[in-house]
Amino acid sequence: MDTLSGLPSVHQLLEDDRGRRLIAEHGRPLVVFAVQRTLQQERAGPLLDESRRWSSIEAMVADMRAPRLRPVINATGVILHTNLGRAPLARSAAEAASLLATGYSNLELDLRSGKRGSRHDAVAHVLCQLTGAAAAAVVNNGAAATLLMLAALTKGREVIVSRGELIEIGGAFRMPDIMRLSGAKMVEVGTTNRTRAQDFAEAITPRTAALLSVHPSNFQVVGFTERPELSALAELARQRNVLLLYDLGSGALRESRAPGLAHEPLIAESLEAGADVVVCSGDKLLGGPQAGLLLGRAELVAKCLKHPLARAVRVDKLTIAALAATLDLYITGRDDQVPVWKMIRADRESLSARAGRWAEGLNLAGVPAEVRSGYSAVGGGSLPGETLPTTLVMIAAERPRPAQLLDRLRLQSPPVIARIEDDRVVLDPRTVLPDEDERLLQAVIAAVR
Ligand SMILES: *Cc1c(COP(=O)(O)O)cnc(C)c1O
Repeated sequence: MDTLSGLPSVHQLLEDDRGRRLIAEHGRPLVVFAVQRTLQQERAGPLLDESRRWSSIEAMVADMRAPRLRPVINATGVILHTNLGRAPLARSAAEAASLLATGYSNLELDLRSGKRGSRHDAVAHVLCQLTGAAAAAVVNNGAAATLLMLAALTKGREVIVSRGELIEIGGAFRMPDIMRLSGAKMVEVGTTNRTRAQDFAEAITPRTAALLSVHPSNFQVVGFTERPELSALAELARQRNVLLLYDLGSGALRESRAPGLAHEPLIAESLEAGADVVVCSGDKLLGGPQAGLLLGRAELVAKCLKHPLARAVRVDKLTIAALAATLDLYITGRDDQVPVWKMIRADRESLSARAGRWAEGLNLAGVPAEVRSGYSAVGGGSLPGETLPTTLVMIAAERPRPAQLLDRLRLQSPPVIARIEDDRVVLDPRTVLPDEDERLLQAVIAAVR
């Protein structure tokens, strides 16, 4: 007993039957922490009776152990949802990462020569094959690839960029900031809505290192607009002996034309058009793990990899394994198995049949639900403004109110993330994985009740 305060000691609580039981289940360090914390709070505030004290300790232990990061069901219809982890991996990609995770691997060992190898070798040749690039490298994400490219190839020199392409990507990636950080001197040309190749030509000086083109991946400028063709910039860059660098953003390896979907520039065609280095993300339309790819001329990619920043943005073995397995799907013509592409290409009949089954299941369980037509989005900095026709399930229950239902869905197990349209909660089958139907319906039923 702590005689001054009348509180039991930490030791007494740990030796108590309830303390011992908690330790057996959750381990001593966590229980000690919760006991100390609870006693500390009691010293500062009101004393608890014994049963309240144990409830507090148990709640603290349970809260610490509850997984903060866990799978959710994405019923929003936004395929590349940054808050929900962007691209879900193909099973083969997850298995490849898992296989490497618990053991050793030849990450930087050339098995034939026994000499030191490069971690980029695991994916570089396939990336080159798929895109026509002479060389390829992988870093942590698209932002890192852009920063590394600019730092390694343009530091201290001028880089010319259109005012219409000084973009912000979610999460404080602002092109002018990235350029400053890289040490490049940004030279802006043109206007927000119209920039011509001639504007770039007039801004080239002996101090110019590169022309930079940035794909406006998450917004559209419509109306009186003009952007120079990449090939026109490439020709200019060649004539004036400067580089053409391209931040492509999404990095599609294959044609994105699904019914009603516009064209997203491909890595291959960007290189073909004459970009010297292209950078893009691995977890957008490519459908792989979070990664940034650098592709292009061999001596330029090599220069990027020799830069000290390359070490700071180095990619992990699990990412390389998952990326290699994702690329294997492309190179063997099985890219329809990449989940992102399955979702983009899901046909209207199967979406509508699935929505119909959900609505029926919900109605049978006493949850009023109806199907209606609507739209899904690709999202995540790809194909802005483009939508894919889908069939939605609309929850027609009057109670709980839509905003409250949305909250309750999020608190189910597994959590369901949905959206509100016309003052009703709607669920889009496009982004719900094939084996999640039953869990989704149970979660909705529980949330409405
Ligand atoms: C998404 C995007 C980035 C950032 O890529 P991350 O992989 O998210 O770091 C950079 N530039 C453009 C044009 C993008 O669309």
